[in-house]
Amino acid sequence: ARNRAVLPASGPGATRDGHAVPLLANIGVLADVDAAVAAGAEGVGLFRTEFLFLDRSIEPGGDEQEAVYRRVLQAFPERQVVVRVLDAGADKPLGFLPPPGEEPNPALGERGVRMLRRHPALLAGQLGALARAAADTTAILRVMAPMVTDVDDARFFAEACGEAGIESPGVMIEVPAAALRARDLAGEVEFFSIGTNDLAQYACAADRQVGRLARLQDPWQPALLDLVALAADAAQEAGKHCGVCGEAAGDPVLACVLTGLGVTSLSMSAPSLPLVRAALARHSLEECRTAAAAARSAASATAARAAAQSVLTSMT
Ligand code: PEP
Ligand code: MG
Repeated sequence: ARNRAVLPASGPGATRDGHAVPLLANIGVLADVDAAVAAGAEGVGLFRTEFLFLDRSIEPGGDEQEAVYRRVLQAFPERQVVVRVLDAGADKPLGFLPPPGEEPNPALGERGVRMLRRHPALLAGQLGALARAAADTTAILRVMAPMVTDVDDARFFAEACGEAGIESPGVMIEVPAAALRARDLAGEVEFFSIGTNDLAQYACAADRQVGRLARLQDPWQPALLDLVALAADAAQEAGKHCGVCGEAAGDPVLACVLTGLGVTSLSMSAPSLPLVRAALARHSLEECRTAAAAARSAASATAARAAAQSVLTSMT
């Protein structure tokens, strides 16, 4: 039996047989940066930039944004930092923009990239500040758009990035249509990052803010695993990266399953990093694939988790 005491407490994420799975941090405020560095994050997989924009009566200026972005990028020299552009709208309205009009179903409304398409100057200001901040650091800046649904959304975002001099744009996969047609999106952008929180909400038509529907928000739902597999396969065929940045990545068993499904990096809140690192180090890529296949063959979220767990336990 392998000795658990030799499992790596830090260092890069990898399966037991050395298949690298970069372990990245999700950050949402500047205070998260130190925790991410302390936990040995190999970079940032999701920088939620909403905190700069929400609760403001005027749009944050380019200089203010640039200073914040520079602080984050400087903390990760030579590492990748994936910044998500503003994901507002719907239930996160902006005080400095007129409301879009009545939306009876805010989660299905004009949020994320949909809102940015109506306010391109807001996106251009953010991308410009990011490009300037990145110019004085050695971090590898990657920028992605939230709530992308189709090729039209992806093209809009890729063009805006091009105009700001930002290379290798990416899209979040958090709308089922985007996962189903990931092959088309892979032709437009350089990477995917799967947001399992929203992808579960939209796949199961279960509001993520309604606790009573937690059963349907479960990222072990086989339907969600199928959508993840579609996106990961499309990325792999196109030779592009496909990470996961939703809460699912921080579950050590699910992290192994996601790796088995072909996901190429995992981004999570800093406290989850050590357990996920240890879980991956206990299993080979083949074992992760076997666990993923077992989970996808199950008929419910509970059965999927049990099936994966039993495969991985028998192989530890
Ligand atoms: C997600 O939807 O999984 C995600 C990472 O984005 P957020 O939780 O910020 O919507
Ligand atoms: Mg989301």
